[in-house]
Amino acid sequence: MQGLLTDQARLVMLMVLCGVLWALESIIPLYRFRYSRVRHAMTNFALTLLLVIANLSLSFSSAYLAGFSVRHSIGVLVLFDLPSWVQIIFGVLALDLFAYFAHVLLHKSWLGWQFHRVHHSENAVDVTTAFRQHPGESVWRILLQLAAIVVLGIPLWVVVVYLSLSGLNAQLEHANIRLNFRVDRLLRLLVVTPNMHKVHHSRDQSEADSNYSNIFSVWDRIFCTYTSSIDFRRLNYGLEEFDVKERQTHLLKIAFQFF
Ligand SMILES: [Zn+2]
Ligand SMILES: [Zn+2]
Repeated sequence: MQGLLTDQARLVMLMVLCGVLWALESIIPLYRFRYSRVRHAMTNFALTLLLVIANLSLSFSSAYLAGFSVRHSIGVLVLFDLPSWVQIIFGVLALDLFAYFAHVLLHKSWLGWQFHRVHHSENAVDVTTAFRQHPGESVWRILLQLAAIVVLGIPLWVVVVYLSLSGLNAQLEHANIRLNFRVDRLLRLLVVTPNMHKVHHSRDQSEADSNYSNIFSVWDRIFCTYTSSIDFRRLNYGLEEFDVKERQTHLLKIAFQFF
């Protein structure tokens, strides 16, 4: 499995899915935004480079820590001789639970919000919004993932599978596509769907304070942060403080202007 999911293979998968969703956004858009798609994508792709660098550093840190855990018999999984299929189910779910808490903390802590508001400043959520992440947020998420790897002793190959699924679902849930209501209902019994995540990008605070889950929707249901649906005709994306055009073009700088 690990051999199939090299960094290059994951990058190709992400690029292919991005291309497919980009095309679907033209055919079945949820909203018809009045914007230049290419210019809009450029801002988000500029942040992608930093995201890739941060994730590459995660690859090295994860590999080192996973090896360290095995050598020193650290972590919950190391204590039991579990078959691969149990390791992957447990590991993927555990990493997703840590991602849920990392996301909640990004909203509930002052420093976390300085980084994460760059993602929420998006006025036209589409597939490229998945890459709109401040490097400070990437480090934040990486540190929590590393904590999960050490505490739970999650093998590196499970981490690679999780990051691949997470990257693919991140693009899907941000895509500006109209999804059949019934299909969405069925899918969100298990995973976070585009309609479910769009609620989290609402300007309405009570809606933005819900639907934090990353891949699996179960965490929002368990921790009572789930909003089932909203009227998409009245949904508004973005943050008031970022409505000024200049603020949209200096996203990185703004993240360090604390107020
Ligand atoms: Zn958020
Ligand atoms: Zn988002």
